[in-house]
Amino acid sequence: MPSIAVIGAGPVGLEAARQAIEQGWSVTVFEQGEIADSVRRWGYVKLFSPWRLNVTPGGTTAVDFAVPLEECESGDEFVLGYLEPLARWVSARADLLTQTQVGSVSRGDWLKADRIGKRSDQPFRLLVETAGREAIHTADVVLDCSGVFRTPTAAGAGGIRCPGELANADLIEYGVPAREKFESIAQKKRILVLGSGYSAATMVVGLSLLFKNQTGEILWSTRSRRPDGPLASIPNDSLSARDQLTSKANQLVSDPASPVHWRPETVVDSMERDGDSLRVNLRNLETENVQGIVVDHVLACTGFRPDRELTRELQIHECYATEGPIKLAAELIGQAGGDCTQVTTSGAGVLVNPEGNYFILGSKSYGRSSRFLLQNGYAQVSAVIDLLASRISGADVDVQGDSACVR
Ligand SMILES: Cc1cc2nc3c(=O)[nH]c(=O)nc-3n(C[C@H](O)[C@H](O)[C@H](O)COP(=O)(O)OP(=O)(O)OC[C@H]3O[C@@H](n4cnc5c(N)ncnc54)[C@H](O)[C@@H]3O)c2cc1C
Repeated sequence: MPSIAVIGAGPVGLEAARQAIEQGWSVTVFEQGEIADSVRRWGYVKLFSPWRLNVTPGGTTAVDFAVPLEECESGDEFVLGYLEPLARWVSARADLLTQTQVGSVSRGDWLKADRIGKRSDQPFRLLVETAGREAIHTADVVLDCSGVFRTPTAAGAGGIRCPGELANADLIEYGVPAREKFESIAQKKRILVLGSGYSAATMVVGLSLLFKNQTGEILWSTRSRRPDGPLASIPNDSLSARDQLTSKANQLVSDPASPVHWRPETVVDSMERDGDSLRVNLRNLETENVQGIVVDHVLACTGFRPDRELTRELQIHECYATEGPIKLAAELIGQAGGDCTQVTTSGAGVLVNPEGNYFILGSKSYGRSSRFLLQNGYAQVSAVIDLLASRISGADVDVQGDSACVR
């Protein structure tokens, strides 16, 4: 019976643990924070995929959950209604260790360059830390479901920190801030939102609602310029909540009465303190003109990237553009387009990499791409669990052996 380590108790990690437990395998889940830590952070935001796309048939059966079919839930409702019961189900049958961070992983005693492609005779060694105490955990299989939310992309042009960004980190929030932080930022007078994705749109729409009776200003900087507004609309969008968000956000920038002012084709060159505020130097990509704007806070919804430190000592073949596993990345790049519901991938084959039995699943597997949807992560889990099950049952294959890896 293989031992499986799952890194991360987000939606995908919990589903992976559930399916591995149902196979009768020995499972340990490591979670650096609370169950569903990332989802909790943006818990006040509504998902745009309806409930039925955010759960699995096996999960709903395990926790006896009746899915409200077409409704969309908030992150908090998702955690309370589904992820917490699922976590209880998992922890009744396996070790689920919260406040326990995996710092890095090695292939036994092998160094990164040792025995290229032929190192599966040793189990993985995971360096784990709980309350300041470090220990080594070993496992035959690692399912890395650690997501990307802990490693946001910088606010500066070209994805690197701009001069002044680090020194003024107290006035910058990356990604979607926790509710209390968001509400306190909304009290400020001038806020700069960076990015042209759904997180940026959610922030702009949310701020404009809270701004209703104030004299504040929300400046929205995007690298792109589109005729219909900052967000590209998807024709006949199958996700109505996403369609509404896009329309609302685009409408705000064209409404002269709204507090939102769009700065298309701009990037952040540098920042410097200006009293209690921040002077942000925005460069226009078309004219190269730099305009200094004074704001009280920056919301940098500039995307995320995978934490590569975790797998640094492993033989993971990554895409040079997205930092996702190369075979999956090649498939995703081949499916350009804005609608994540149309993304299809072809099973476990694209999730296998030179480090046998190490699988990157869930949002982390998409690298820097923001087109991940939970239903795709759940499909990945099923594909990998099926692959592992067939390796174990098929001719008594050694689950650690490289010969068992699908290529
Ligand atoms: C505002 C917002 C709205 C969204 N709406 C939707 C939607 O409508 N539909 C949809 O499908 N998706 C949506 N998403 C994307 C959604 O967040 C992801 O689909 C989902 O959270 C990804 O799940 P995951 O399990 O892959 O990663 P995560 O939810 O990020 O879970 C990863 C877990 O791993 C833990 N972890 C990280 N590193 C370590 C470590 N080293 N050791 C131990 N634990 C670790 C984290 O604490 C976290 O709990 C939305 C995202 C945002 C930000």
